[in-house]
Amino acid sequence: MIDSLNISVKKTAASRIGQLDFANIPFGKIYADHLFSAEYVDGEWKDPQITPYEDLRISPASPALHYGISIFEGLKAYKNDKGEVLVFRPGKNFDRMNISAERMCMPLIPESLYFEGLNALLDLDRDWVPSAQGTSLYIRPFLFSNDDYIGIRPSQDFKFMIITCPVGAYYAKPVKVKIETHYTRAIEGGSGYCKTGCNYGPAIYPAKLAQEKGYDQLLWTDGKEHKYIEESGTMNVMFVIDGKLITPSLEDSILNGITRDSVLTLAKDWCMEVEERRIEIKELISAIQDKKVQEVFGAGTAATIAQIERIGYDGVDYELPAVETREFSQKVLKTLDAIKYGHMEDKFNWIHTV
Ligand SMILES: *Cc1c(COP(=O)(O)O)cnc(C)c1O
Repeated sequence: MIDSLNISVKKTAASRIGQLDFANIPFGKIYADHLFSAEYVDGEWKDPQITPYEDLRISPASPALHYGISIFEGLKAYKNDKGEVLVFRPGKNFDRMNISAERMCMPLIPESLYFEGLNALLDLDRDWVPSAQGTSLYIRPFLFSNDDYIGIRPSQDFKFMIITCPVGAYYAKPVKVKIETHYTRAIEGGSGYCKTGCNYGPAIYPAKLAQEKGYDQLLWTDGKEHKYIEESGTMNVMFVIDGKLITPSLEDSILNGITRDSVLTLAKDWCMEVEERRIEIKELISAIQDKKVQEVFGAGTAATIAQIERIGYDGVDYELPAVETREFSQKVLKTLDAIKYGHMEDKFNWIHTV
């Protein structure tokens, strides 16, 4: 184990930052100049280093390629008016990454490796953090099997990396979702609570089918009975019904979102009534019909809050209240943005400054 890292740094000879049009940043296409990496070999973490962003060499037999032995995280850094880099709740991603690591028989990532790697990388590539309101630097830490053995067993060698890419401000268009009652994303006893590669690939096909029918995303239901609401795409889902904030309770088929936790924390701080419990599709549909549903939205790092304007279920489309009337989620979005960009006191200690 590394107690105090000695990160070796090899800087790029030719920065690509000139290729980036900060006024028009394409999503997920341009990565910052450097990446952080470390190897896990012979039961030890080794070689923490920052190197120019470039393609990897990997064994064609790597279980990451064949069996999805890989996990990842997603978080964001913002720039405040003083030019400082503010990272939103990175400790939460660290904790969650190690929960995923355990489930996938991977070594835990030491806290020093994660934080010192993150700090050093963001410090070196700080010019890549855009500063306009709504923009940010997306941070993708990931860990994968680096074995050269094709058998199915717990892997022995791993690689941990962090890459980053700037993301532009985009108007988060309200989305239409379809309640999925045939396909399953995750089930009790499975790995739905982890950000592991194997949860995401198979979800693309059912989502594509729904997109062909005019929906943007799926609202997943429990894999056993398809009776209870779970979550949507890479967002947790939340409802304001009769003035109460209601969200599915965390089962092992639901990802424990950091945005979800932040929204719940704000709601409680504002003395709103909050319920984390199972929500039956039937209950939701009759609440919509009774006009008791005031707001429906997704919560996740990508959009923070994604308003849901329509829900399709069993061949019927249910329209939801106009986005302009949704006071709670609008206030949440404003407040989270103000905290992230350093415009509001960080009373919950969510910001990590680099
Ligand atoms: C990442 C993710 C979320 C949202 O988590 P955040 O920490 O808020 O970004 C929700 N559901 C799934 C399936 C996810 O992968």
